[in-house]
Amino acid sequence: MRYSHDRRGGVKSNRQPLKPLPEKTCRPQTTTDEPAAKYRRLSRYNAEMRERVVIIEDEKDIVELVSYTLRKEGFDVQGFNRGKEGLEHLRYKPADLVLLDILLPDLDGLEICKRLRGDERLKRIPVIFLTAKGEELDRVLGLELGADDYIVKPFSPRELVARVKAVLRRQERAAEKSEVVDAGGVRLDPLTQEVTVDGRAVELSALEFKLLHLLASHPRRIFSRDRLLDEVWGRDRFVTPRTVDVHIRRLREKIETRAEEPRYLQTVRGSGYRFSSEPSQSEADEE
Ligand code: CA
Repeated sequence: MRYSHDRRGGVKSNRQPLKPLPEKTCRPQTTTDEPAAKYRRLSRYNAEMRERVVIIEDEKDIVELVSYTLRKEGFDVQGFNRGKEGLEHLRYKPADLVLLDILLPDLDGLEICKRLRGDERLKRIPVIFLTAKGEELDRVLGLELGADDYIVKPFSPRELVARVKAVLRRQERAAEKSEVVDAGGVRLDPLTQEVTVDGRAVELSALEFKLLHLLASHPRRIFSRDRLLDEVWGRDRFVTPRTVDVHIRRLREKIETRAEEPRYLQTVRGSGYRFSSEPSQSEADEE
């Protein structure tokens, strides 16, 4: 996947929507009977924009509560009471997140999770298990299967929303970290760690790569030194904000034409650093 830039300098992903498989008998069998008219209207207008959540859970009350709560937060929700139906639907139309009950009448949640992880198209969908109190063993197994989180029933709507959003945010950031960035002539490929500036190959250390990738993924956004330390160096760090300055200076020497007049890595006095994908003033004048 690669990024492109809109006119405001933001980054958009050119991700191609997944092509649905031929329609079969995998329409949702059971959702809440009465989604409010408001949500129906909403779904007609921007169903494509909203994040899709699938819940597979045999207790209808829970499906209803979860659907209501998440729709109110702007999610597109589909509920299933049977494991097989849910899985079939996901194969037809992948979701952004799956809420999985563990004990289901047919295919249990752990098995569904295993099958999702074994499916090339579905293996990256985050899974949150819904577990009843006392299902300790299942809980552990669930996490070993690659679940992203679990929620113990009964749960509050607020807790549910917080967990769902946290998992989606984490997923988004993980996806960002693995995407090719191409901004203003600087191209970074996280899979190969290759970097080019206007087609010229540049050698960066792993840390320099991480730092530049973060900045270039968010052109114009100002990052404070502390934020950069958190994101690039992590929590277990024995470094000071000064470390950031040193690395920025090295990066400038490698990617800028004139390190003393940086075009890409700009200092924002009193705030931190930002990446600019726009041509520098002098180059703009030449055109
Ligand atoms: Ca159950």
